[in-house]
Amino acid sequence: MVQKGLLVVLSGPSGAGKGTVCKALAPVMPDMGYSISCTTRQPREGEVEGVNYFFKTREEFKRMMEQDELLEWAEVYGNYYGTPLHYVEEQIAMGKNVLLEIEMQGAMQVKKKYPNGVFIFLIPPSLEELKKRILGRGTETEESFNLRFGAAAGEMKYINEYDYVVVNDEVEKAVDRIRSIITAELCSVKRNREYYNKLIQEGQKNAVSFD
Ligand code: 5GP
Repeated sequence: MVQKGLLVVLSGPSGAGKGTVCKALAPVMPDMGYSISCTTRQPREGEVEGVNYFFKTREEFKRMMEQDELLEWAEVYGNYYGTPLHYVEEQIAMGKNVLLEIEMQGAMQVKKKYPNGVFIFLIPPSLEELKKRILGRGTETEESFNLRFGAAAGEMKYINEYDYVVVNDEVEKAVDRIRSIITAELCSVKRNREYYNKLIQEGQKNAVSFD
């Protein structure tokens, strides 16, 4: 019997450090499948097609939406982002664990379709630190800072929708916490009930009674 893979969703407000944490997670958890999203936003400097994102026109993205090729999608700051369905379904069916780094509207859609997924919310140590990190990017105008900080602060309300919160005080520590969560979930009896019930049945057939 092939155990289905685990779907892990990592979200968090802008400035929580999701991108950095995911990058650091990849070498630590090399067997994890990292879903690559589609987006209509323009590539940033250094971003590579098929590595960071699949870059799509709005027409291409709409066609994917209409043909149910996306597990979830959301509009963020005027651009569309979505998770290709095929990759996730295929990996999970093969028993491979998959990680999605997506924002909360999309995560809530995934939760409906994969209620057994593990939903992790990454947060900065404080709102002050969040402010510093958004400013630290050095790419924000006053208007875009206010927009990003206001949105990020408001997004904290999503914490209640997630199974775990990881504080990203230090990247290595955050990675370690995420790895521990995933390891614990993979060992969970509840999650593997079907498999263990079979094991128990087999065990019972071979059991010696000392009564
Ligand atoms: P960025 O443009 O900075 O790469 O990403 C902006 C936001 O979009 C981030 O919060 C990121 O997590 C989110 N995002 C990236 N890919 C997806 C996706 O496939 N679906 C959803 N819903 N959000 C995504």
